[in-house]
Amino acid sequence: MQSRKHTRGRTAASPLRRIRFFTILGLLIPLSLISVLIWAMAQIQPGPSPSGTAPAFPRDTPSLILAGEGQEASWQLRLVNSTHPLPGDWNPDLSVIDPITGENFDSRALEYLRAMLDAMEREGLQPLVCSGYRSYESQEAIFQQNVETALCQGYTQEEAEEQAALWVMPPGCSEHQSGLAADIVSAENQNLDETQEDTPEQAWLHAHCQEYGFILRYPQDKTELTGVNYEPWHYRYVGEEAARDIMSQGLCLEEYAAPPG
Ligand SMILES: [Zn+2]
Repeated sequence: MQSRKHTRGRTAASPLRRIRFFTILGLLIPLSLISVLIWAMAQIQPGPSPSGTAPAFPRDTPSLILAGEGQEASWQLRLVNSTHPLPGDWNPDLSVIDPITGENFDSRALEYLRAMLDAMEREGLQPLVCSGYRSYESQEAIFQQNVETALCQGYTQEEAEEQAALWVMPPGCSEHQSGLAADIVSAENQNLDETQEDTPEQAWLHAHCQEYGFILRYPQDKTELTGVNYEPWHYRYVGEEAARDIMSQGLCLEEYAAPPG
């Protein structure tokens, strides 16, 4: 009997225990899954956007600021030549260099140009900025004048454009359109030819322009690289550090701004 009672007791209790066990298990599994889901979502929220390409904003803010500063620092080193033309809508902020001539210069660099001209005048020299900023239209007009002159000398249209480009950049390709270039001559010799080299103004500029952030842009021994004839009167603002490097190492901007290799 005892054994039967015992057996009956066991057989009667087992289904109830199983029900309780499965009820608890049935509650625990969904609760565990919900907990895991909540934890997983909390891990995902601060991560990248669904596209997977956009960076998380707070983490990348410092590098974005640094990139902005880098771009801002390089505006004065922009290379402008026949293979690096300015966009047609290039429109720098300008200031008047001298109200008498009405020539303009990039507002960000004007103080350095003025400081250089003032230093020359204190030395008793007479510098004259005969050409500063040029618009696309005025550069085009100057280029066409030179083409016309070459055509009158018997060149074909193609040859005339090549001849003109030796002295005047085609529209879009002139540094004067950047607002950072100035043709500086002696008030006593305003001819844009090699006689400029013999003036005391050019002697001073060739020796000191880098102290004010300017370079002689088209040196005599770099015509192959610049694609422009020697112009002892054409100066370009690049900032003092770059100007000192370029002038002391005898480079042109093509070598400095886009070094080979
Ligand atoms: Zn020039």
